Amino acid sequence: MFQSTKHRIALISVDGDPAIAIGQEEAGGQNVYVRQVGNALAKLGWQVDMFTRRSSPEQAAIVQHGPNYRTIRLKAGPAKFIGRDNLFDYLPEFVVQFQQFQQREGFLYSLIHTNYWLSAWVGMELKKLQPLIQVHTYHSLGAIKYRSIGEVPAIAAQRLAVEQACLETIDRVIATSPQEQKHMRILVSQKGRIEMIPCGTDINKFGGIERSVAREKLGIAPDAKMVLYVGRFDRRKGIETLVRAVAESSLRGKANLQLVIGGGSRPEQSDGIERDRIANIVDQLGLQACTTFPGRLDDTVLPFYYAAADVCVVPSHYEPFGLVAIEAMASETPVVASNVGGLQFTVVPEVTGLLAPPKHEVAFAAAIDRILTNPTWRDRLGAAGRKRVEIAFSWNSVASHLTDLYTHLLAKTEKQPQIAA
Ligand code: UDP
Repeated sequence: MFQSTKHRIALISVDGDPAIAIGQEEAGGQNVYVRQVGNALAKLGWQVDMFTRRSSPEQAAIVQHGPNYRTIRLKAGPAKFIGRDNLFDYLPEFVVQFQQFQQREGFLYSLIHTNYWLSAWVGMELKKLQPLIQVHTYHSLGAIKYRSIGEVPAIAAQRLAVEQACLETIDRVIATSPQEQKHMRILVSQKGRIEMIPCGTDINKFGGIERSVAREKLGIAPDAKMVLYVGRFDRRKGIETLVRAVAESSLRGKANLQLVIGGGSRPEQSDGIERDRIANIVDQLGLQACTTFPGRLDDTVLPFYYAAADVCVVPSHYEPFGLVAIEAMASETPVVASNVGGLQFTVVPEVTGLLAPPKHEVAFAAAIDRILTNPTWRDRLGAAGRKRVEIAFSWNSVASHLTDLYTHLLAKTEKQPQIAA
């Protein structure tokens, strides 16, 4: 009674809902990636079902984004926000719900693309129950994360074991940068099949807005030297380094220096706590007058913030890829980023921006000042960034690489005899 077609696939992202507002606690690059990859794959003719966990009773069970492209929310534990480190116990329920969904639809997926280690586990469990091709994107590696945080959560050993089993056994793991690929090999396992397919960005949404027009819309002075951060409030994003760098800037007190720190936060949640910590540092350093926190930046304003900025700073301690860097580059805004992970791949130093050692506020200050004091060079860096994104990082090119990979994997299994579910 089950039918299977190679054109219908599932993207699984248990913890990163592709249909919710981005920019708050635990909702960032992974959500954007799943949503945009799903959209671009649907445009290429795939029927894309994106599965996630229902995290509030008000959420619709199914959100239809387009004719071939929808988010399906399954029950896995109570319908409330639960942090990633506490979700593992609810995953068996997610697996059962996924199977029941297939049963109701009378359809068995033959290819799933899982995201983050929690979904990797779900995928590996499903693989025990039905013939299935599994492709996986990590988005973050426990082996790197746990090196940089003081307190390792109780789930750490489980996560590391799943990440290793995933790399060693599934059909294909996607690295989003050569740096992530290298870290997988060094820190996770020598075994397993990796393919490098970068992340992308929407080159129509970002770009094409004049700086002066963007500033007028946002109420930012034409003579301001605007330094922008966009992202979640998380200690590992290194916002403290940026604030201290602005305090060190040679332009402080001399030019109309403006620091804009964009991103959502919720009181008493971990992002709210980090936001308050950053606001205290701003106060201690006497930067209140030149710093603003506009909150979560949604699609209607985000392209204007990137376009208005003189420089966008990505001071993360680590990034496997770092979408913000390419969004700024697509908007013709130079990037100053930490010299780590995927940022070494996206930002070409002296061509599209500058790299500085993570947590090094003096180096960040020097890099920011070099760009702010030379508007002609700033514009050259911006134009080169846009060109780089157009060539290497559009979602359409990501989806066409994924299409080649999925088609290749599906063709391979179709040649082999299938075992009935
Ligand atoms: N973002 C947003 N609004 C905000 C803050 C962030 O839309 O207020 C988006 C940002 O544009 C980017 C994503 O969240 O697409 C963050 O992705 P990134 O890879 O830079 O970081 P992650 O969240 O994966 O650590």
